[in-house]
Amino acid sequence: MSEMTARGSSDPRLSVVVPAYNEAESLPELHRELLEALNALGMSWEILYVDDGSRDGSDRVIEDLCRSEPRARGILLSRNFGKSAALATGFQAVRGEFVCTLDADLQDDPHEMPRLFAALEGGLDLVSGWKQKRRDPVTKRWPSKLFNRVTSMVAGVRLHDFNCGYKLYRREVVDALEVYGELHRFLPALAHWRGFRVGEVGVNHRARRFGQSKFGAARFVNGFLDLLTAAFISTSALKPLHVFGRIGLGFFLLGSGLAVWFVVQWLQGEPLRVRPLMLAGAACVLLGIQFILMGLLGEMIAHQSARDEYPVRRRFNLDRS
Ligand code: UDP
Ligand code: MG
Repeated sequence: MSEMTARGSSDPRLSVVVPAYNEAESLPELHRELLEALNALGMSWEILYVDDGSRDGSDRVIEDLCRSEPRARGILLSRNFGKSAALATGFQAVRGEFVCTLDADLQDDPHEMPRLFAALEGGLDLVSGWKQKRRDPVTKRWPSKLFNRVTSMVAGVRLHDFNCGYKLYRREVVDALEVYGELHRFLPALAHWRGFRVGEVGVNHRARRFGQSKFGAARFVNGFLDLLTAAFISTSALKPLHVFGRIGLGFFLLGSGLAVWFVVQWLQGEPLRVRPLMLAGAACVLLGIQFILMGLLGEMIAHQSARDEYPVRRRFNLDRS
């Protein structure tokens, strides 16, 4: 790892981001394990605890941890915004060249970090944990299998476990990702679509000891809807007219073709009558125009929010600013 992006000399090399929602009981134990694992890692580090509006005193626990360890930093969100929001908040504050995320509930084992690093050094930009032996109830494991299959197909990158909270990123990936809503489930897909190298390694997964899972059955419905969003924004965000315009042109050409056919018939002396096919043709023309206008509207939005930055995979001897 000799290639270094230019960063402040006091910046740590590794930033660990921990999103926490009502994890007061787990946090002190996690902190102990993290210190142990990080100090064994042999590189400078920081921990960023992001409290996602907890109601169980997690905020005070984080405050205490930060007081006792200056390399631990804390951000308390004003209320519960969801895991994606907590991660996005953490991502904005990281200073490290590498960013590791893990859940606060002790299900992810901090001592697995060297294995994630080994995979990253093998040439990846994002290494996702894979809970090979998952310590969760069956009601969670099976739907999750289906979810990962479908997401793999849509994303075009084959992973067993998209939604694992344990991940290691190169900083460039984190900088290029926009996480909101519940898109945290698709981070590997979003990164892959942006052109980064994504892979996975099996990690030790432990049963939840304290508290309870924050996601109920709604997660699966939302998960599939979000997949639609993720696929749509990443494939069409740049050129909405290419998506809507194609559909619109299809309808428009079909409708126009039908209209021309009726005109030709009329010219040949056939009396013009309102027929189902004629109505369908007219509907197609209108639909076509609608779709094209929708695409143009999308173009206007895309134009206004156009990022003048494209994802960069690595920088050498270059200042990020
Ligand atoms: N989490 C969060 N905000 C939320 C829900 C969860 O920050 O609104 C955190 C939670 O504290 C944990 C991680 O996200 O650190 C994963 O949550 P959980 O363990 O409930 O998910 P599961 O393991 O059931 O997928
Ligand atoms: Mg969990």
